[in-house]
Amino acid sequence: FQLIADQLGSSLSNVYAYEDARKRADSLVEIDRAKTAFFNNISHEFRTPLTLMLGPLEELLGGDKSAFSTKQWADLETMQRNANRLLKLVNTLLDFSRIEAKKAQAQFFPVDLANVTIDLAGSFRSAIEHAGMQLEVDCQPFQDTVYIDRDMWEKIVLNLLSNAFKYTLKGTISVSLREDDGKAVLRVRDTGIGIPAEELPHMFERFHRVRQSGGRSYEGTGIGLSLVKELVLLHEGSIGVESEPGQGSTFIVSIPLGTDHLPAGQVSMQED
Ligand code: ADP
Repeated sequence: FQLIADQLGSSLSNVYAYEDARKRADSLVEIDRAKTAFFNNISHEFRTPLTLMLGPLEELLGGDKSAFSTKQWADLETMQRNANRLLKLVNTLLDFSRIEAKKAQAQFFPVDLANVTIDLAGSFRSAIEHAGMQLEVDCQPFQDTVYIDRDMWEKIVLNLLSNAFKYTLKGTISVSLREDDGKAVLRVRDTGIGIPAEELPHMFERFHRVRQSGGRSYEGTGIGLSLVKELVLLHEGSIGVESEPGQGSTFIVSIPLGTDHLPAGQVSMQED
């Protein structure tokens, strides 16, 4: 009798423990949902006034420069640059909340990835050369068709390139794309400041930034790389980084070719 009572007691406490854990899990899910909704609303609320500020600013800056003093003109430019930075951040937060709310579904189209990537890299050429550096682009055409969400690919490449540009003071930034073992492999390499070994495992965590020892500090939010990773995962791909402090970094993205790994409902056979 004692034995049965003990067993009953212990299974009851198991039930209580389970109930407790379930309630806690429910409230965690609830908190997570509330957090996503909060980010979503906040981002929307931020975007409207920002866009409303940027419109008139662009109009002023597109107009007659002689109507302003040099100082006023520089102030307008600073305002525009910072409003744009804030807008970019807000848009990135919105991208995240869409991914988390599972609203961001990639739509996969057959894409001429080599040419798309050449164009994206090309959009950085003048900035890179203007800063006294070189841009090397080597994108090979593919045997198999690559299915990609083009907007997402654009964000992936542009984020990696703008980091390469931001964290490199001299040398070469190179972009290569080739087919390797059934995958499209993108490498964005720079000869920049590099990343200490102990930081490498944390590079794709949200809001993670490498603390720069001495030297100059770089503005940023630590959100770009974690978005890039989410976008790569939506393609069932993977991302990694190799780096040597003081020598440079290489970010490597691999995306499987073909459609076998993709949900049928999200794949289109027609070109985008
Ligand atoms: P942000 O650049 O806004 O801080 P990211 O998520 O894009 O955010 O990058 C996170 C951190 O990773 C950066 O703060 C920087 O320390 C480091 N990092 C990213 N790309 C590079 C790179 N190409 N070279 C050196 N460090 C980098």
